[in-house]
Formats: sequence, structure tokens, C-alpha cells
Amino acid sequence: MAAAITARERGVKVLVLEAAPKDFRGGNTRHVRNIRYAHPAATDFVTGAYPVDEYYDDLLRVTQGNTDKELSRFLIEKSEDSADWMQAHGVKFQPPLSGTIGLDRTNAFFKGGGKQLLNAYYTVADDLGIDCRYEAEVVDMKIEDGVFTAARVKYQGAEHIVEARAIVIAAGGFQADTEWLKEGWGEAAEGFLIRGTGYNKGRMLRVLMDHGAQTAADADQCHAIAIDARSPKCDGGIATRVDCVIYSIMVNRQAQRFYDEGEDIWPKRYAIWGRLLAKQEDQIAYGIVDAKVNDLFMPSMYPPLKSDTIRGLAEQLELDPEALEKTVADYNAACRQGDNKDKEFTPGVLDGLSTEGLEPAKTNWAQPIDTPPYYGYPLKTGITFTYLGVKVDKEARVQFEGQGGRSVPAANIFAAGEVMSGNILGQGYAGGVGMAIGNVFGRVAGEGAARHVSN
Ligand SMILES: Cc1cc2nc3c(=O)[nH]c(=O)nc-3n(C[C@H](O)[C@H](O)[C@H](O)COP(=O)(O)OP(=O)(O)OC[C@H]3O[C@@H](n4cnc5c(N)ncnc54)[C@H](O)[C@@H]3O)c2cc1C
Repeated sequence: MAAAITARERGVKVLVLEAAPKDFRGGNTRHVRNIRYAHPAATDFVTGAYPVDEYYDDLLRVTQGNTDKELSRFLIEKSEDSADWMQAHGVKFQPPLSGTIGLDRTNAFFKGGGKQLLNAYYTVADDLGIDCRYEAEVVDMKIEDGVFTAARVKYQGAEHIVEARAIVIAAGGFQADTEWLKEGWGEAAEGFLIRGTGYNKGRMLRVLMDHGAQTAADADQCHAIAIDARSPKCDGGIATRVDCVIYSIMVNRQAQRFYDEGEDIWPKRYAIWGRLLAKQEDQIAYGIVDAKVNDLFMPSMYPPLKSDTIRGLAEQLELDPEALEKTVADYNAACRQGDNKDKEFTPGVLDGLSTEGLEPAKTNWAQPIDTPPYYGYPLKTGITFTYLGVKVDKEARVQFEGQGGRSVPAANIFAAGEVMSGNILGQGYAGGVGMAIGNVFGRVAGEGAARHVSN
């Protein structure tokens, strides 16, 4: 929508083709809460400055340098006016939020979330005379020598050929295509839940790749977190996240622990648990806590299973009761041992309260699970979005493979958002970068497409 609005404002005719029905328009963007953008000072919506250099350092750290550095810097510099642009197009922000992810300085939160943002964009689009069609799936594109001439579109029960002088692809990743996910994850992909839209199946990405577009990031790179195993297959959104992990022990189907639950504070660790769960049988694990800690994290949307005994909880979770009792007993015995006897359990900060002689160790917040009732949270891998995408340049032009492997920019094919996120996110993630990629490259793509058409 950022691309569509920008192009229309530069005077060209724009048609938006959206595969989903109107109620589901806007894909993953419907679910967002915030954008990470560079800014020189506090505003009504952020608590302090977030300079370009700091943002850049953060991005290098989370991606471990696995990013196109020039494009990343470009993204961050251009993000400086993202919030202003959004506000000028009807998006509302809310005063800074503190909370479990602690982004109040770096990220601005949308008032009314992604749904309000999209409704605002569609209202602007309507006012500008942009033609938006729903349940209009682009199934193929006619591309010759890197030049786009027409799209093949399924719409109202028939196939249509839509000719245009430029195209912007902003059709998301391929996280809703389980078969494609298997290329990176094997059979484990069957067990993944999809946090966002079921319409992002990567069809446009595949067409571009088949035509020789160059790619960025690997097929198994994505953002994935632990969400409630009872969530719907698609579109559960942000409400399905469960934050019990650091105060829990996490056990798999065999009722065995498999990773240090207390490795770091939750904002720094929540994004690794989707991958950890993906490696467990049926991509499921269970967070076990007792009454002492059950109020220390954000309440879950689905109530936890509950029992006055570990055995009773195991039965409800369909785990082997003896195995879970032994795991809890071993863990309890390893708490408050050796050097840790005098340490205090302190929520929210690394308290160093560690198990001793247990493999894997729990290195913070390790206190016995001994106060009924006991609670169990079943958790599965929830995939947010995939990173593999088309390579682009600073004009958001899709790069095709030329002679000797060199990059040749397409004259009239542009990409924005998840479909090119791999240029920035070779791995890792920092909250709010997704929206920055969509907004910045969306505007750049819209500008480029309009320029091409006007010339
Ligand atoms: C639960 C959740 C919470 C998130 N929270 C945040 C957040 O707070 N901050 C942040 O920065 N990021 C967040 N993200 C990530 C963010 O949503 C994405 O990075 C960003 O919205 C992607 O925008 P996009 O335009 O690339 O894709 P989308 O917004 O998913 O839009 C793609 C659109 O393309 C349509 N489409 C797909 N294929 C076709 C086709 N063949 N023909 C026609 N239409 C097609 C889809 O229906 C969809 O509407 C979140 C994601 C999820 C799932």
C-alpha cells in the first residue's frame, strides 16, 4: 500500500491486486503493532533518540553481519521519515508502551495496530482513486529478458491478463506454503503454525526465481517464536504468544528438558524458541511452572492446563507421568546448590540463580517447582515470516542473473516487504524491522515504478 499510494501520488494509474477477501486484506501487516525507525529525539510516541548508527549496530548484531550492509544502512537512513509519512497518510500512533519486549525508545506503536494502519491506507487509496481488487490472485507474470509485460490473475472465477508498464511485488514470504518450508526444514515444517496470513504462499517469489531473479537469504531463515499449541493453523496473530519460558522448565514429548530456559532475559531470547521447538518431536514442548511464578509473565490467551500434582498435570498434557515427575524432581534437586544457595530469585533481571550438576543447566531463575497448583503451557513453533527473497538494489529493482553471474536490475519489476526481506535479514531479527522494510522499500518501489511509467 505504501508503494501504491506513493506511485499514485506521482500521477500514475495504480491497480492493487489482493489475493485475500476484503476482511483479510493486508496480510501480515494486519497483525503488526510497531515500527522500528531511526529518530534524532524523543517524540510523543518514543521515549528517546534512536540514531542511525545505533540502529545499524543493532541490525548488524542481530543478523551477525549477515545482511547487505549498504542496503541496510540505506533502509535505516530512509526510515527516519517513516513515522511522519505514515501519520501523513492517516496512521495513528500511541504514547510509548513499556512491556515485555521493551521497545519504547526505538519503536513507535500503532494506535489500533496494523488493522487501523491498513484501514487508513485503504481510505487514502480510495480517495486517490486507486483501484483495489480483492480475491484477485496473481498466478503468473509474463517476463521477457527481465521486462514485465503482464500478470495472469484469477478473479471472480475466471483468469484475466492484466497488462501494465511496471509492477511492484509486495506479496509476502512463503511461510504459508508447507511444501516449500520443507525445503529448509524437512518434515518438521508439517508441525509449524503460521502466525499471520495463510495467503503468503510465495507464488510471486517462485515466478521471479523461475525467471532468473537472484535471491537473498536461505530457505530455512525466518522469524519464528513459541506460540500456544492450541492456536489456529493460520492468523492467530500476536495474542497466541506465550511468555512463560524463562520461569518454567520446558520439556518435550518425552518429558525431558532440552535447553537452558534461563539463558537471557525474555526480549533477547523469545525469538530463538520457535527454532528450538522445531527440532523437537512433533515440534511441541510444554512449559511447566508452579503457583509462585504463574503471575510473573503476560497471561496467555488460552488458559494453561492445571493440576495440584505433577502427575495430574502430566496426565492432562498426555506426558508420561513418571518421566515428568523424575524430570521435575531432578531439576528441583539441582536448584539452590553450591554457589547458588544464597542467591535470590529476582524476576526481570539476570539473577544468576542457576542449577548445579544438571544437563542442560538452567542459568537464571532456577528455583524449585514445588508450590501447587502446577500449570502446563503446550507450545509449538509459530512462523512469522520467511526471509528467502529476491535480491534488490537501492531503487527496489529486482536483480536478475546476467552473464557471469552479475546482477542486472529489472527495468520495471520492483519488490518490497517480506518478498525482499532477505537482503536485510540474512538471519536474526529485531522487533519492528519488518515494517521498516515494508514502508521504506514500498515507498522507494512506488517511486521507481511511477518514474519508469512516466518516462
Ligand atoms: C503476528 C505478527 C506480528 C507482527 N508484528 C510486527 C510488528 O509489530 N512490527 C513489525 O515491524 N513487523 C511485524 N510483523 C512482521 C510484518 O507483519 C511484516 O514484516 C510486514 O507486514 C510484511 O509486509 P508485506 O507487505 O511484505 O506483506 P503482507 O503484509 O503479508 O502483505 C502481503 C499481501 O500479499 C497478498 N498476496 C500474497 N500472494 C499474492 C498473490 N499471488 N496475488 C495477490 N496477492 C497476494 C497477501 O494476501 C497479503 O495481503 C508481524 C508479523 C506477524 C505475523
